[in-house]
Amino acid sequence: PALEVRGLVRHFAAPRGKGSVRAVDGVSLTVGRGEVVGLVGESGSGKSTVGRCVVRLDTPTAGTVRIGGTDITRLSRRRLRPLRKDFNIVYQDPSASLDPRMRVSRIVGEPLLLHRVVSGTALRGCTRDEVRGRVEELLGQVGLPPGTADRRPHELSGGQRQRVSIARALAVDPMLLVADEPTSALDVSVQASVLNLLADLQRDRGFGCLFITHDLAAVEFLADRIAVMYLGEIIETAPAAELFAAPKHPYTQALLSAVPVPDPPVQRARKRIVLQGDLSGSALGPGLPGPGGVAQTVDHCRFHTRCPLAFDRCRTEAPEHRTLPGPGGTRTVACHLVADDGTAPDAAAAHVR
Ligand code: SF4
Ligand code: MG
Repeated sequence: PALEVRGLVRHFAAPRGKGSVRAVDGVSLTVGRGEVVGLVGESGSGKSTVGRCVVRLDTPTAGTVRIGGTDITRLSRRRLRPLRKDFNIVYQDPSASLDPRMRVSRIVGEPLLLHRVVSGTALRGCTRDEVRGRVEELLGQVGLPPGTADRRPHELSGGQRQRVSIARALAVDPMLLVADEPTSALDVSVQASVLNLLADLQRDRGFGCLFITHDLAAVEFLADRIAVMYLGEIIETAPAAELFAAPKHPYTQALLSAVPVPDPPVQRARKRIVLQGDLSGSALGPGLPGPGGVAQTVDHCRFHTRCPLAFDRCRTEAPEHRTLPGPGGTRTVACHLVADDGTAPDAAAAHVR
C-alpha cells in the first residue's frame, strides 16, 4: 500500500494543565497505490490531524505511519527529507501555502531541484531550461498556461493558486497525495473544476490519495473507499458506493441524510436526520493520556450524546470495531446495534418518532 496507518494517536495538552485533548485516538487506515480513500467527518473530528501526522507535519503521540512500506513515524527531519518525494499534501487554502515572494516557476521548480539533489540522480546535466521546461509541462497538466510560470501567487485567482499547489505537490511524482479540503476555500463555481482535475490526475498518474473533506458529494465523486471519523475515531469504513447505498452507523446515516440525491422521489422518501449539538465542547473534553500515549480506552460510544438510538449499553461500553462482509470487499463499523450479518438500525425512524 501507499499508506498504512496503525493505531495512530495524537493527544494535545489541554489548556491549564487539564489532562489532554484526544484529537486522534487510535486510527488505522490503509490507502492502496492508485486508490482514493475519503476521510470524512465534521470539523473537529480529527481528520486534519490525521493528515498532518501522515505527512509528518505533526508527530504522532503513538502508532505508526508507513509510506510505501517505510516507517516514517519517528524519523528525524534529516532522514525524512529524501523520503519527502514519496508523499505530499495539498491544503485547503492555497494562499497560505504558497510563498508570495516567489514566482510560480520557482514554487513548482523547487521540489524538482531539491529531490534530484537529495536522491543523487542526474542534477548534473539538468539545466535551468530543463527545469523550466518541466515546470511548464506540469503547469499544462494542471490546466494553466505556460505564462503562469512568471507570475506570483497574488496575481492569480484562488482556483489558479490551488492548481499551482497541486502542480508543486505532484512535481516529484509522489506515491501518496494527502488532499486536505482542497476545494473548500474556493469559489463554488471553480470547486468542480478543481475536483475534476484531481480526479483526472489521479487516474492518469495512479498515486494513492487520502482525500480529507466534509463535503460528501465531493467524496462520493472521487473516493473508492470512505472512512468516517467521529471524535478522533474511525467509526465506519466501506467501499464508497456501498456506504452511500447503505450506511450502517447511525452517525453515517445522519451525515448522508443531508446529501441531496438527484432522484426526486428518493429525495422525498429520505428523512433528514438533524443531530443535536456539535463536536465543540462535547466528549472531546480533557481526558488523561493513556500510559505512553496509547489510545484512550473509553467506556462508552463516543457518539452516544448525539445518537438518536442511544441506549444504556452505549453509555457504559464502547462498541467494538467489527468487520462485516460486503459485495465490494469488507467494511467495518463500530455500533452495538449493527448485527454481525450487517443488519443495521434505521436512525431516521428513531429520529422522527
Ligand atoms: Fe448509537 Fe449506541 Fe450505536 Fe453508538 S453504539 S452509534 S450510541 S446505537
Ligand atoms: Mg480540517
